[in-house]
Amino acid sequence: MGGATLLKESGPREVFCGLTSIVWLHRRMPDAFFLVVGSRTCAHLIQSAAGVMIFAEPRFGTAILEERDLAGLADAHDELDRVVKDLLARRPEIRTLFLVGSCPSEVIKLDLARVAERLNGSLTGGVRVVNYSGSGIETTFTQGEDGALKALVPLMPESNEEQLLLVGTLANSVEDRFITLFNRLGIKNVASFPPRQSTDIPPIGPRTKVLLAQPYLGDTARALKDKGAEILKAPFPLGVEGSKGWMEAAAKSFGVQDSLFTSTVEPLIIRARKALEPFREKLSGKLLFLLPESQLEIPLARFLHQECGMKLIEVGTPYLNREMMNEELELLPEGTRIVEGQHVEKQLDRIRQEQPDLVVCGMGLANPLEAEGISTKWSIELVFSPIHGIDQAADLAELFSRPLHRRNLLNPKVLSQV
Ligand code: SF4
Repeated sequence: MGGATLLKESGPREVFCGLTSIVWLHRRMPDAFFLVVGSRTCAHLIQSAAGVMIFAEPRFGTAILEERDLAGLADAHDELDRVVKDLLARRPEIRTLFLVGSCPSEVIKLDLARVAERLNGSLTGGVRVVNYSGSGIETTFTQGEDGALKALVPLMPESNEEQLLLVGTLANSVEDRFITLFNRLGIKNVASFPPRQSTDIPPIGPRTKVLLAQPYLGDTARALKDKGAEILKAPFPLGVEGSKGWMEAAAKSFGVQDSLFTSTVEPLIIRARKALEPFREKLSGKLLFLLPESQLEIPLARFLHQECGMKLIEVGTPYLNREMMNEELELLPEGTRIVEGQHVEKQLDRIRQEQPDLVVCGMGLANPLEAEGISTKWSIELVFSPIHGIDQAADLAELFSRPLHRRNLLNPKVLSQV
């Protein structure tokens, strides 16, 4: 592991739960439905997180566990069967039904795997039922996607064809761009997981080479490996350097000639570095503190230091999967303080003491920190924005320079000079 210093911390946490990932997963797979088996709190969370959906037929909902269920006075299995049957009768277009576990369903030990198995046995027609947990007990919000993808792995058909598999939700436009670039490199058989339709599950086999597009898919990566796939070692496709390294890993694995790789990628790199310049000017030398939430923190810290010149005070991460993060850790500067886990009070004390210029954190901590005069960036914004790839490097940097710009505008000294 490069020259980073690794510390562990545990205590009170301040993170969103895995239900949040439904917000981007239901957009990705419009023929799927996500049924949260949870409490009214879970329903409120998911409705406010994805509030824009009130104008459309929603593709997620909550089967509310009432007090009678929680007290064991009602048979939650019977009630769930009834809710699912009503739902499928009303919404015949649903092709995959995800039963999503929550803290309440885990507390009463509702076995959703058994429910899914039973429903798959009784439902005839084109609906598949799978389950995963989005509970906030010991998990963070991006792990919802990891759980959902892992639940789909057993449905992947076997194949012995050579293919490149991009794993992790990307914005459709970004994904199209990557596929075009890989095609130009001569890598023609490129599939994505999750697919754009839940029924369009890509095949897998010993000649599948996996490029992870997101750093929070440890369980999915293990499941794909168990199916015989090779997980390519690469940094994550954030910023010019990370994206170049990511594409290069695939190019090497598929035997693409160096000259073809360079002639394809170099013009993009030159253009992206130029586009980054104004943001580098704004960000260079600024102090950055990342609180643990999305598991994107280490690749982001690498980008913001290496390509934008920011100084890293602390890089928090909810979990550190060294195998997946090895390439990223090597690129961090000597002595970077990485803290795995969270004791939110201690972390806030360190923020107050070190007075960073920018803190990347969850929404719950952003307002209090802003009130104390510290600029923040919501980490959740990063999973909703098209930030991957060489072409997106400047947009990614802009996301971090915006709060600093806003703070400057609100600075009383600047205001008095206007
Ligand atoms: S799953 Fe747990 S943390 Fe998430 S909304 Fe429901 S009760 Fe809250």
